[in-house]
Amino acid sequence: MTNQQMLLDEVQERIRGDNVCPELASQAKQLVMGDGNPNADIVFIGEAPGKNEDEQGVPFVGAAGKFLNEMLAAAGMNRSDVYITNIVKYRPPNNRDPSPEEKQAFWPYLARQLEIINPKAVVTLGRHSMEFFLPDARISQIHGHAVKKEVTYHDGNHAVRLIVPLYHPAAALYNGSLRQTLIDDFLNVPKLIRGSTE
Ligand code: URA
Repeated sequence: MTNQQMLLDEVQERIRGDNVCPELASQAKQLVMGDGNPNADIVFIGEAPGKNEDEQGVPFVGAAGKFLNEMLAAAGMNRSDVYITNIVKYRPPNNRDPSPEEKQAFWPYLARQLEIINPKAVVTLGRHSMEFFLPDARISQIHGHAVKKEVTYHDGNHAVRLIVPLYHPAAALYNGSLRQTLIDDFLNVPKLIRGSTE
């Protein structure tokens, strides 16, 4: 096991030990931490686990996950090249939107995941995860663009991160024009990252 994976496992244990969002935890089957390469160049951040993710303990394994896998493949990547996680790590009952308090409660743990993985880019999937990094942005205007943003961690450390906001695959899945926009944005992500690190 890599050192990074051990540190990520510690974050998972802290979420349990700190009793984060006990109401969500009591209704969910399990905590869904993350999947992929703990040393990845790109971290994808969704919203919260759904039914399939809750059952399997892995993020993005349902219909939205299948679409995400297809876009990764089209962009020349697979899941083991990247790291995929969510803001909220327990499934909200009936797939309701996570509340602002629930999202806030998980932020220190998400921030620590980013600190450990230290990716070249953070790709936010949907408005909920974009808002953490770019609170004043509108997804309809900023999707597919790379923005450098200083992120403050809970321990006061700072890091400038490259944020690429994309539409959420579940929102784009059955909407023809949004679907094509997301695919086009997605295929451009490797180029955006190369452009920002050259
Ligand atoms: N939608 C999300 O935001 N995350 C998942 O893990 C699955 C669907």
